[in-house]
Amino acid sequence: MQPRLLLLALCVATILSAQTQPVLGEETVKVSDHVVAIMGWPNIGIVIGSRATLVVDTGLGPRNGATISRVVAKLAPGDRKLFLTTTHFHPEHAGGDAGFPAGTILIRDAVQQREMEEHGKEMLDLFAGRSPQFKELLANATLRAPDVTFDHEAQLDLGGVTARLLWFGGAHTKGDQLIFVEPDRTLISGDVVQNKVVPGIFRDGGTPSSWLAVLDKVAALQPLRVLPDHSDPGDGSLVDSEKNFIADLRKSALDLKRSGVSADDAGKRLEADFKSKYPAWPSMNVAGFVRSIYAE
Ligand SMILES: [Zn+2]
Ligand SMILES: [Zn+2]
Repeated sequence: MQPRLLLLALCVATILSAQTQPVLGEETVKVSDHVVAIMGWPNIGIVIGSRATLVVDTGLGPRNGATISRVVAKLAPGDRKLFLTTTHFHPEHAGGDAGFPAGTILIRDAVQQREMEEHGKEMLDLFAGRSPQFKELLANATLRAPDVTFDHEAQLDLGGVTARLLWFGGAHTKGDQLIFVEPDRTLISGDVVQNKVVPGIFRDGGTPSSWLAVLDKVAALQPLRVLPDHSDPGDGSLVDSEKNFIADLRKSALDLKRSGVSADDAGKRLEADFKSKYPAWPSMNVAGFVRSIYAE
């Protein structure tokens, strides 16, 4: 392999392994003028203004929350306000609030908070059962009540930079929140816009068509940079790629449904079709999304 190709392969491998790593490190990458990220499982967005800082997602359990807090204290020292928000209620995104300092202002959309109250504890227990490491990380997890909730939009003026917290409807979950940072035009997109990751709807979260409707609203923001939670950052074209993939899969699945093919058979067929049609999308769970399309 040529040295450059080898280097590229190594970088890709490093990023991929970082994104499956539930113990976050303190290294950051710059996403845009006011946004940095800790790459891991999940990626953590940090928006830094002159007066206040916003952290997007907590990591899995308090230890990760504490790591993020140390990073924030280094990047934005002094007595600044710290806001914390979560892209959705799943434990690696919201189960680390106990690691943040007292006085952190927790804010999230009301739909997500309802999901948290209904299923948050259940999800913590489910994740803790997945491995001894998860169990340890979640040992002292709390799901504290937010200081602020909002219906559709909240704006945080952090000093020289504004974070718009947006709820556009259900997609991966009912309460998916998007964060749009101005003037950077950076979108912190949670699971709603990913970089070549087949979408997945959690239980009765959203529907394929509500996901598409959310993406129409996202596209209107015209983001320049996108930071997803479980894949690499990219430019605004990720929004169109996400939309095209879902629309393509939805049309293909509905064609099969109309011709009487069962959901299971359609899943198998389209899984194979889409693997060759979208070879750069490595983690394929097309059959799961096909079931969501059939069920709608
Ligand atoms: Zn999730
Ligand atoms: Zn996740």
